[in-house]
Amino acid sequence: MRHHSFSVSLAKNPAIKINVTQGHFSTSHAHMTHYLDLNNLKTNALIAKEVAEELAQPYLAGALVDTIVCMEGTEVIGAYMAEVLLDSGTLITDEDMAIHVVIPLRNTERKLMFPADLQKLISHRNIILLISSVSTGITLNSALDCLSYYGAQLVGISALFNANEASNGQKIFAMFTKNDILGYELFRPGDCSMCQEGQKLDGIIIHDGCITM
Ligand SMILES: [Zn+2]
Repeated sequence: MRHHSFSVSLAKNPAIKINVTQGHFSTSHAHMTHYLDLNNLKTNALIAKEVAEELAQPYLAGALVDTIVCMEGTEVIGAYMAEVLLDSGTLITDEDMAIHVVIPLRNTERKLMFPADLQKLISHRNIILLISSVSTGITLNSALDCLSYYGAQLVGISALFNANEASNGQKIFAMFTKNDILGYELFRPGDCSMCQEGQKLDGIIIHDGCITM
């Protein structure tokens, strides 16, 4: 990419850092001024473990957790998070004293669902929803709708990055927020100041990865 890139580290643990590229990027729901490469946090086992330790913090004070539902490639972090919670003696209600880590599927209409044999890990279970990044909240809301449909009891939402200030009243435990990235702005597609200035797109963000133009 031609544009300026820099990295942002987590103050509490500088081993956790994200690469940020400035430019004009789009997802299917929004345009934004920066692309955040979160892949190393999700795929590098050593770093994913450090991330899991940070994300587990809000749940260590006695939260009941049965299942961690992982969206957007967060399942390695989810597995380590389960380990941290189990090691900390987090209360679990499952009769086999386990925390399960599951990934929802998308049906032919692109709606999130769980196959029949996994639904017992969701219905009336205490769930942490783990998501990579929250921007417009559309993916988050579809996940929340899905969990509510199966009768899940939401314990909390954890994210690597949250750009959404409103979040429909839902508290999101995010490691990084838009305030950590100077000048970060998010626009509805018809409302983007970079489009209005005729600035070409630098990349399209699909499933958290960037396809450069
Ligand atoms: Zn734009």
